[in-house]
Amino acid sequence: DAVVHWFKRDLRQTNNRALERASVKAKSQGVPLVCIFIISPQDYQAHITSAARVDFELRTLEVLKEDLKEKGIPLYVTTIEQRKDVLGHILTKCAEWGAKHLFCNMEYEVDELRREARLVKRGLEKGIAVEVLHDDVVVPPGILRTGAGKHYSVYSPWFRAWTKYVHDHPHVLEPSEPPTRNPDSAVERFREIFSMPLPSAPPNKTLPDAQRDHLSHLWPAGEHEAMLRLERFVEQKLGKYKETRNFPAENSTAMLSVHFSAGTLAARTAVRMALTANKSSSSKDPPNLFGGWVSELAWRDFYKHVLCHWPYVCMSKPFKYEYSDIRWDYHQEKFTRWCEGKTGFPIVDAAMRQLNSMAWMHNRCRMIVASFLAKDLLIDWRLGEKYFMERLIDGDFASNNGGWGFSASTGVDPQPYFRIFNPFLQSEKFDERGEYIRKWVPKLAGVEGKAVHDPYGRGKGKEAEEAGYPRPMVEHKFGRERALERYKEGLGRG
Ligand code: FAD
Repeated sequence: DAVVHWFKRDLRQTNNRALERASVKAKSQGVPLVCIFIISPQDYQAHITSAARVDFELRTLEVLKEDLKEKGIPLYVTTIEQRKDVLGHILTKCAEWGAKHLFCNMEYEVDELRREARLVKRGLEKGIAVEVLHDDVVVPPGILRTGAGKHYSVYSPWFRAWTKYVHDHPHVLEPSEPPTRNPDSAVERFREIFSMPLPSAPPNKTLPDAQRDHLSHLWPAGEHEAMLRLERFVEQKLGKYKETRNFPAENSTAMLSVHFSAGTLAARTAVRMALTANKSSSSKDPPNLFGGWVSELAWRDFYKHVLCHWPYVCMSKPFKYEYSDIRWDYHQEKFTRWCEGKTGFPIVDAAMRQLNSMAWMHNRCRMIVASFLAKDLLIDWRLGEKYFMERLIDGDFASNNGGWGFSASTGVDPQPYFRIFNPFLQSEKFDERGEYIRKWVPKLAGVEGKAVHDPYGRGKGKEAEEAGYPRPMVEHKFGRERALERYKEGLGRG
């Protein structure tokens, strides 16, 4: 007999709701806990999971497998090619191990919610009780409603409700207990699983060695690293976050998104720690307690709540339906220039090169490049959304879709369509001294002063030209006017 926990995007032992319940159940029945993780290449294709993310997941599994092994808990990891076979395989394994209970945490994308529902039903047919728990978000979707009983589609009132809820229900931040040690007999019984090597990444998701080394150095995997990073951030940067978070050269954000999206860190662990730090700081007013970093973390909850209540956003549809009819350009060469960071707009190019190198991009820059693609180039934002998923190590459908919808003005609580970022002004404001640009676009390292933001407009363009830096691929004023026209025209039809 056994109790099984299915790991998905919750790759940690500490503060993991379903894992805790599985461990408690196993202990109460005097049977071992067995864990399972399925690598599904078809899922990776469907979710456009980047090779960087797959690599991070595999590195995390190595850590997790070792940690669990110390408690005599086996982690069975296997590759199942076809998505449709995943549930069958898990249930077959449960039967083989004599498990009558299976636990997992809920994922909120529409396909995953349907899969979870199917699992419960198929489990029942086989006499296996399946429990699916909320764990990924601080406040589970469905709880917060407007005064009129509707779901929130605007962030600020939602965040006020979220804050109140967390304040009034402190148990949502209570950590779960890590799993306890398995009975000694488990080591012998599951010897084969303990000695199984981890599978490799599917061939189309394998990183070249040099990139793998580079990314493992930048993004060490596993929950211990996540905790270290969180502690360092809270100690050194949290207090100044509000003032510094928008400046990409400052390195002032937590860089924890990869851990939240792989589940190596629970959002509630981070919120709890930030609230404790805020409480011990000079200002104890509720708005300050929950402001700053915690309110950014709450965006993550917000976008997951949107997925659940408006699941059509998972189907390439804009949240704002009336924006379905905009005539986008599908110009491959222009799109490629954007992807490669060769647009002639230094801040855009710096940001895209950061993405291509680090598999991560600063939030302010994500907004700038997304606005540039959708508005200045009028290229369908969904192509940008997809490119981000192909590259990001922290790729998360809800936050990425939400961020793109915000910037393209098609999403939930978006930037209004007539607010069009001027990339040069954004650059002057948020990278005033051009440090971020010079770091990522070395060809502009020799351009002095403010000319670095717009070498051909503000400067004479001589250094940029000699260094082979391209001219702007579109005139911003022209791009802006064209975007306004097309958005208006689309809205008129929609
Ligand atoms: P911090 O500033 O330290 O914030 C802490 C945490 O709060 C983040 O790790 C993240 O989990 C959450 N958070 C912060 N800002 C946001 C936000 N605007 N929306 C949702 N959650 C937020 N985030 C992802 O995790 N995955 C994505 O695929 C993703 N795609 C994005 C695409 C676009 C176009 C935009 C504008 C934003 C996107 N974001 C995405 C949100 C945000 O840019 C990143 O979460 C953030 O830059 C991660 O860096 P950090 O951990 O240093 O963030």
